[in-house]
Amino acid sequence: MHRTTLLALLAALCAAPALAAAELPPHFDALPPELPWEGKSLELALPADHEWATPFEVGGLVDSPSYDETVAWLRRLVDASDALHMVSLGTSPEGREIWMVVASADLAGQGAPTPEALRARLQSSAKPTLLAHSGIHSGEIDGKDAGMMLLRDMTVLGKKPELLETADFLFIPILSVDAHERRTPYGRINQRGPLHSGWRTTSRNLNLNRDYTKLDTLEMRHLIGALEAWAPDLYLDLHVTDGADYQYDITFGWNRPPAAWSPAVGGWLDRVYRPAVSAALREMGHVPGNLVFTVNEHDWTRGVARFTAEPRYSTGYGDARHLATVLVENHSLKPYDQRVLGTYVLLEESLRLLAREGAALREATAADRARRPDPVPLDWRMAEGAAPPTEEFLGVGQRVELSPVSGALRPVWTGELQTAEVPIYETSEPATTVARPAAYWIPPAYRDVIERLELQGIEMERIGEPRELEVEMYRLTEAELGDQPFEGHVRATATPVPERRRETFPPGSVRVPTDQPLGDLAVLLLEPAAPDSFFQWGFFHEVLSRTEYVEAYVMEPMAERMLEEDPALRQAFLEKLQSDRDFRSDPRARLQWFYEKTPYYDERHNLYPVAREVE
Ligand SMILES: [Zn+2]
Repeated sequence: MHRTTLLALLAALCAAPALAAAELPPHFDALPPELPWEGKSLELALPADHEWATPFEVGGLVDSPSYDETVAWLRRLVDASDALHMVSLGTSPEGREIWMVVASADLAGQGAPTPEALRARLQSSAKPTLLAHSGIHSGEIDGKDAGMMLLRDMTVLGKKPELLETADFLFIPILSVDAHERRTPYGRINQRGPLHSGWRTTSRNLNLNRDYTKLDTLEMRHLIGALEAWAPDLYLDLHVTDGADYQYDITFGWNRPPAAWSPAVGGWLDRVYRPAVSAALREMGHVPGNLVFTVNEHDWTRGVARFTAEPRYSTGYGDARHLATVLVENHSLKPYDQRVLGTYVLLEESLRLLAREGAALREATAADRARRPDPVPLDWRMAEGAAPPTEEFLGVGQRVELSPVSGALRPVWTGELQTAEVPIYETSEPATTVARPAAYWIPPAYRDVIERLELQGIEMERIGEPRELEVEMYRLTEAELGDQPFEGHVRATATPVPERRRETFPPGSVRVPTDQPLGDLAVLLLEPAAPDSFFQWGFFHEVLSRTEYVEAYVMEPMAERMLEEDPALRQAFLEKLQSDRDFRSDPRARLQWFYEKTPYYDERHNLYPVAREVE
C-alpha cells in the first residue's frame, strides 16, 4: 500500500466509524503487491473540508458514496449551476430513478425545462456530445466519483468552463442502481477498493453488459432509449477489470477494423482517440494501455487476445449500431484513488478531443451508417496460419508454485516491473457471413421480438392486410440447447438451411428493411446463425417442438397401403431397415418415418418463422 493511500485510508477510517481498521475486508491482505504511484492527477482532488468536495474526497479517496448520497450531492451541484440539469431516464425494478446529468454551456437561463426541451436545445447547438456511464456493473464504480469531480470543476469551481463551451456532456453516474445498493465491503474480491461497493448483477441477477441486444432489463431499456433519444457522438462504458496483474492502470478498447461492423469509426478511435487520450493520461502520471486478456494465466509472456466483442456487450453493440463506443477497464489491483483520477483524466480528454476532432468522428459515423455491407459478417475469427504480431507489454513479475490448497500450480505476482514483447492474437476476418436480404418479415405472433426491435430504434413497416409473397426461410436442423441457463435464457444453436417458400403474412406482420442505418443490427438480431440473434437467445424455442402426433392404429394401415402403392418408397424403407440398426429396432421411429411422408405431418416443424425478402 503506498503512502498517500495509507494516509487517506487512515483519514477515512477516522471519518467513518462504521468500518474500523480491524474490519478492513480480508482480501486487501491477499491481493498482489501494490505498485507505487504518485501521479500528478492527485492534484485534481480537493481537500476533504472544501465546500465542494465530493463524498469520495471527503472520505479521503478510498470509498464511494451510496445512491442517496450521490444523488443528494449531485442535486446540490445542479442547483448551483446554470449549465447542469438532471433528467431521469426511468426507474429501476426496485423503483430508483436512473439519473443522467446533462451538462452544456447552452443551458444557461433555461430555468427548469423538460427533458424534451433540453434535448432539442442540445441538438440545435450542433456541438458534439459525449455520453458516459458508470456502474453498469455497480461494483466497478470508479467513473461515478470521477464524473462528479469533473462536473464540479467545469461548473461551480470555474476551473475548466471551456470544456462545456465546445462539447456537451451526458453523465449517468450509476446505471445499475439497484445493484449499487447491494452495498458491501465484500462485493469485489479481486479489487483494491473502494471500501464499499455494489454488486455486478441487477436485483434480478442479470448482467446488464450482456443485455444490449435482448433488452430483458428495464435498466438497459432506459439506456438504449437514451442512446436513441440523445444521439451522442461518443459513448463511454466505464468498468474495472478482473484478471492478470500488470503496470497499466487504465485500459480501454473497442472493436477494431477490419474485424468490425463500423470500420470508419473504429479507424477514428485507433488513429485519433487512443493517441490523444493516452498522451493526456501519461502527462498526468497514469499508465494507459489496450484492453488485456492474457492467454495463459500462469505466464503473461505467452500473449494477449483481442476479440471483436459481440453485440450483447457495449463495444459490440456500439459497433453494430455505428456509435463510437469505448470500453474503459481500470485495473482492479490499482488503488481506488489512482483509478478514479485516471478516469477523470480520460473523461476530460474525451471532451477536449470531441471539441477538436468531433467533425471527423461525425464523418466517420455517417460513413458507417451509410454502408450496406453484403454479405454481412455475423461473427469474427483470427486468421489461421499467419504468425501473430508482437507488441511491447508492461507486465509485472510472475512465477508459479505448487499449491497445497488446489493441488495445482498457482500464479504468484511479485510486484516487480517487467517489460516484454508478447504476441497479440486478434480477430481479423469474418467467421460466418450471410447475404444481406432486402428485408425481414416477422409474423405478429412474435410480439416480444418485434417490441425489442422497436426499442432498438429499428425502423419497420406494419401491414394492415394479409400479404402473400415469395420468401426465403430457414429450416433449423441439428438444433441444440444449452445445458445451463445463461442470463435467464437457455441458448440454442442450429444449422439454418434456406428454402424458398410462398408465404402469407397475416395483418400485424412487420417488414424490417435492411436499407437503414440500423440495418446491420437488424441482421445480427434476426439471422439465426448470429451469436446474439433472438433465436440463439431462445426466443424461438417453440418452433423446435413437434405438437401433433399420430396413433399407431391409424399409421399402421396407412403405412401398409403406402408400401403397396409406392415401390420406390418400399425400396427406401427396406434400405433404411438394412442400413440403420437403431431404426430397425425402434417401432416408433419406423412409424414416424411414414408419418413424415404424409400430408398430415407438420411441415412448419423446425421452420424459423422470420422470413428473408430476397430478389
Ligand atoms: Zn465490468
